[in-house]
Amino acid sequence: ARAGTGAPGGGAEALAREAQRLFLRTFPGLEPCVAVAAPGRVNLIGEHTDYNRGLVLPMALPMVTVVVGCKSEDGVISLLTTAMEADEPRCLEFPVPSKVNPLNPGVPRWANYVKGIIQHYRARPLTGFKAVIASDVPLGGGLSSSASLEVAMYTFLQQICPDDGDLVAKAQTCQKAEHTFASVPCGIMDQFISVMGRKDHALLIDCRSLEVTPVPLTDPNLVVLITNSNVRHTLSGSEYSTRRSQCEAAAKALGKESLRCATMADLEALKASLDAEVYRRARYVITEIKRTTEAAEALKTGNYGQFGKLMVESHCSLRDDYDVSCQELDELVVAAMDGEGVFGSRMTGGGFGGCTVTLVETTAVEKTMQRIKDRYRGTATFYITKPSPGAYVMKLSGF
Ligand code: ADP
Ligand code: MG
Repeated sequence: ARAGTGAPGGGAEALAREAQRLFLRTFPGLEPCVAVAAPGRVNLIGEHTDYNRGLVLPMALPMVTVVVGCKSEDGVISLLTTAMEADEPRCLEFPVPSKVNPLNPGVPRWANYVKGIIQHYRARPLTGFKAVIASDVPLGGGLSSSASLEVAMYTFLQQICPDDGDLVAKAQTCQKAEHTFASVPCGIMDQFISVMGRKDHALLIDCRSLEVTPVPLTDPNLVVLITNSNVRHTLSGSEYSTRRSQCEAAAKALGKESLRCATMADLEALKASLDAEVYRRARYVITEIKRTTEAAEALKTGNYGQFGKLMVESHCSLRDDYDVSCQELDELVVAAMDGEGVFGSRMTGGGFGGCTVTLVETTAVEKTMQRIKDRYRGTATFYITKPSPGAYVMKLSGF
């Protein structure tokens, strides 16, 4: 995966300072008076369940995307990103969209996430602005740099052209931008957690009712370790849409509004008439929703052993039934699990590369990372993370 600039987890302040310096060099004479940050996320359990109206249990990360900039009076939007996308220009200018002159997706591809937000933003009139984007969420690493970029841009627009402040509508607008401008038919999880994230808590999100239950995650003896496989297989886009259609087909065959409403008994009763692959996809989703409920309960009661067991079951079902894991992720999970003090480990995010998440005792973290490094045939990158806040406006006084 291509990393953004800035040391991962090096802090929103350092990123904002970097963005501010770049802003002053790029737009001399203007003052970057607005700075905002929005986090990436890691999902502890409940994968591919959001678009089945199920449950997810993510937490917001200390890694963020920041947007620093100011309004301008010239009717032009000027954007610059520090991200190291090898093949694309890093800056872009275009007129403020209007009814007769709306924004459309195009190139550079990275700007589509931003243009989608501007086009679908929930307040008007927009003015021109200049902004620099910097991020320490790894790009394409399954920690949702895309949602953090969308939510950061939305939060920036809220500062220059306030909307009604409705946070659910904000997350939904960011999701819509990803659907229509990046052509990724994602669920609501990534944008929702980037908006709603809460320090020291994972959030159990019901993607049908959008009800949120914060689950404390502050035990000093416990570490959430993320391991980046640093591979991304190109399959992920097309396979994602295929999985969605298969889930819809399964729900329809079962006569349910979504797989959220189906039980394993419903599925078994229809097994003979279902396509074998569709059956396995549905089995994954139905069991994953159940695992996620149980995992949230286990975390609440401090039963980490049970939580870890559910993580491993989740991984195995993602690998065997949903077919979205890959050799590298499987290797990382096996290496993580093969030692003392490790409760559980699983792939996280859409799959086909990206990261694993491991729940491990604080005293066993160093050994676990060493073991993974020794056994993994690729190059692994580690992030020791804490549940962090959702999107916020940064104070500029420290600059
Ligand atoms: P993930 O969300 O797991 O990181 P995605 O493929 O969904 O992976 O999104 C990654 C894409 O989002 C990048 O290829 C790039 O186009 C865009 N992106 C994310 N962060 C930035 C950034 N700071 N600057 C420019 N583009 C970004
Ligand atoms: Mg993404």
